[in-house]
Amino acid sequence: MRLRDLELSSTTNTVLIVGSVALDSVETPAGTVARALGGAATYSSVAASFFCPVRLVGVVGEDFPKEHIEFLASRGIDIRGLQTVAGGRTFHWKGSYEGDMNQANTIATELNVFQDFRPILPEDYKSSPYVFLANIDPDLQLQVLDQMTSLRLAACDTMNFWINGKRDKLIEVLKRVDVAFMNDAEVRQLTGESNLARAALKVHDLGPRYVIVKKGEHGAVMYCNNSTCFMAASYPLTDIIDPTGAGDSFAGGFMGYIAKTGDFSEANLRRAVIYGSTLASFNVQDFSLNRLKRLTMKDINERYEEFRRIVYFEPLR
Ligand code: AMP
Repeated sequence: MRLRDLELSSTTNTVLIVGSVALDSVETPAGTVARALGGAATYSSVAASFFCPVRLVGVVGEDFPKEHIEFLASRGIDIRGLQTVAGGRTFHWKGSYEGDMNQANTIATELNVFQDFRPILPEDYKSSPYVFLANIDPDLQLQVLDQMTSLRLAACDTMNFWINGKRDKLIEVLKRVDVAFMNDAEVRQLTGESNLARAALKVHDLGPRYVIVKKGEHGAVMYCNNSTCFMAASYPLTDIIDPTGAGDSFAGGFMGYIAKTGDFSEANLRRAVIYGSTLASFNVQDFSLNRLKRLTMKDINERYEEFRRIVYFEPLR
């Protein structure tokens, strides 16, 4: 057995990811792409795949290009849980960014095959120790949680679309996860609280021990329910080409590193936040998943070290 096969046959460090697999049409000040590979589960699975075995659960239509399936498989991602609906059309998101690159303007959301999707997990997926419920209908996130038998750590993400449309179900999801990833606007929207530290406390009260608030170019803050927090800078990029998927690649990098190490100490969670920031910073340097396609572990580790230098300061003598 080659090392890679050995890793894939092991279930102790596998992360299961459910969420949207999409075709995205995106406009940014740097240009446009039409029906490019996207989706929350796609970005997070590819980011996590640098660290650990990944199982993907999602759905696409017959229009989903074969080359995208081949790319996911080439990353070692287990795609037996990715259903293809004959005659169906893939989830399509259309969005734009202008001025404030931290906030996407949604122009259209076509759920298509996601409308009737039921996430039926292959039998061996159910014992995955780690799950990341990427952005998707909270009802589907709950259906996945219901099938998991041996969870060590569960995390979720969401967005304004679901906070508005399925708030009660989202609150049920939050009750059942250890880590919640949200951006600053979402955490304010969910809690009705403008002060972020207070908003994070309100999310802790709903369930998650760790609330990781993503603040785009201003980095991320991990709030822990023992009242400590960790502030991570974002990497100072001069050219952001396409912010789509930054949050998802952040979460995928975080979850992948936690699954790889199996260490839930706060020191290790902090490292995971920096790996998340590292993956997100690469992702925004090109449209769709183009930068992640060219990324190597060496690139990742070099930038991780740069992150350490950015926040280093001398102690008082
Ligand atoms: P992010 O930029 O990390 O917040 O996520 C961007 C991805 O989310 C895009 O690739 C979209 O395909 C996907 N997306 C947008 N709207 C939704 C939605 N309502 N449900 C699930 N995924 C979505």
